[in-house]
Amino acid sequence: MSTDDAGNSVPHKHFIHEIVDEHNQSGRFGGRVQTRFPPEPNGYLHIGHAKSICLNFGLAKFYGGKCNLRFDDTNPTKEDQEYVDSIMDDVRWLGFTWDGLYYASDFFEQLYQYAEQLIQKDLAYIDSSPVETIRAERGTLTEPGKHSADRNRPTAESLDLFRRMKAGEFPDGKYVLRAKIDMAHPNMNMRDPLLYRIRHAEHHRTGNTWCIYPLYDFTHGYCDSLEQITHSICTLEFENHRPLYDWFIDVLGLYHPQQIEFARLNLTYTVMSKRKLLELVEAGTMRGWDDPRMPTIAGIRRRGYTADGMRAFCDTIGVTKFNGLTDLSVLENAIRNDLNKRAPRYMGVLNPLKVVLTNYPEGQVEYTDAVNNPEDPSQGTRQLPFSPELYIERDDFMENPPKQFFRLAPGREVRLRWGYFITCQEAVKDAAGNIVELRCTYDPATKGGNAPDNRKVKSTIHWVSAAHAVAAEVRLYDKLFTIENVADIPDDKDWKDFLNPASETIVTAQLEPALGDKPAGFQCQFERLGYFCVDKDTTTDRPVFNRTVTLKDEWAKLQKKS
Ligand code: ATP
Ligand code: MG
Repeated sequence: MSTDDAGNSVPHKHFIHEIVDEHNQSGRFGGRVQTRFPPEPNGYLHIGHAKSICLNFGLAKFYGGKCNLRFDDTNPTKEDQEYVDSIMDDVRWLGFTWDGLYYASDFFEQLYQYAEQLIQKDLAYIDSSPVETIRAERGTLTEPGKHSADRNRPTAESLDLFRRMKAGEFPDGKYVLRAKIDMAHPNMNMRDPLLYRIRHAEHHRTGNTWCIYPLYDFTHGYCDSLEQITHSICTLEFENHRPLYDWFIDVLGLYHPQQIEFARLNLTYTVMSKRKLLELVEAGTMRGWDDPRMPTIAGIRRRGYTADGMRAFCDTIGVTKFNGLTDLSVLENAIRNDLNKRAPRYMGVLNPLKVVLTNYPEGQVEYTDAVNNPEDPSQGTRQLPFSPELYIERDDFMENPPKQFFRLAPGREVRLRWGYFITCQEAVKDAAGNIVELRCTYDPATKGGNAPDNRKVKSTIHWVSAAHAVAAEVRLYDKLFTIENVADIPDDKDWKDFLNPASETIVTAQLEPALGDKPAGFQCQFERLGYFCVDKDTTTDRPVFNRTVTLKDEWAKLQKKS
């Protein structure tokens, strides 16, 4: 986002703005801007859809126009009300309100009338060829297709058969309706495409009213026309469907929207395909469509991604005509930036190592007022207990530290966040040689984190008071796939073999007591560890947190360099 003279944030402009500006100047649509987001309700929305939603709703907002939500529900066997509901929920969550709500199925009667008109104009015919024959006769990119044996069926006969198809006289697959365009057309989509097929299947909205269903290509452009869409925005793979959509509309002399194609969003280490995501859900590989590892909107919501962060991400990546691969870190950065502003800070230890302060009075507890969010003073303070037994992060101690390691080590002093300076006197080991406890001393003069003699420590670490800590299940997430570009997986390999077995790691963490009773959805930073949110699986007995995103890991960067 950039900022205008009045201080409002405005989205970055892209090539579609130029097209709309041109139309507004020429008066092509009378200055109207009407877009739509047109999902097929055959799965949950993913991050790629978020890009399309931000684009369509964003343009309408920018130009003071309107944006509809339209379900392209032409495939009754793959669609479900559950998907419709989740899609509406996700669009609202992203912060958008649709103007019109439509379903392609609302237009089934009108589409049927259009199909009859095409037959009457001798621009469509009923074909009895089996699908395999139709496929074989389509030709290739270098060879023209063949005319179907039924291509010259008399208009009256096609019309009669089409009506009888609708009346339910024939079984699935017996006939199809095809457009009569050009079997030698260089664009394969123009080679007499299928318009209607027989499907004795119950539709999630029209029930058993229909047993013939229009195909997506036939439906999509007509619905845009019927909704008076001005700018029909879709992804690049529909570029060579545009001549067909134009043909459908022009042969019937209907209102003509302008289709504009843009590049889909692809992200590293994940997939943007409802079909593949459905496979993961059905195989039980994931907790469901909303598993925090899933690139679905439901998944990222559960993971703790924010709507503001998602919109900022979509604005950052822009809209172009070139297919590419966006680095997952760009998305994570957008989320991190947003959470940095809003998330209160707490302390939690993911991999606890006990610390006993040998010179701290036994049984004593002190409370400190810790600042909840240095970025936002209005979030106030909370009481943080300190006592002689603490947990620190196991990674924050090394018995034989390398040069760049400044945290705790034998004889070394560090600062405890909001607490005192402590010095490690001894690492206690079990029989197997594992470190089980550190015995440390604290300096009572360093309360609050500064020494009166101004001596410096190189590192500040987080901790929790052992007696007050709350044990919680913390789910740590990593990349869903081990391969950067899932599209690179060869066809003879199973893409599921490239799922990252470490995409989820569950640990029992020790958290400061204030985190013990937070409701599902609560978001915060665990200092030095990342942003976390309470999962819907949480209970008062066992809180459950998801790690939304890590903080920038300076230590990992250092290690990489050395
Ligand atoms: P999938 O391939 O995942 O099944 P789809 O394109 O079939 O996706 P639709 O429900 O038809 O899913 O998509 C609704 C809208 O979202 C379409 O306009 C489509 O172009 C757009 N869209 C889908 N995937 C992406 C993506 N990765 N990036 C941007 N827009 C997308
Ligand atoms: Mg689609």
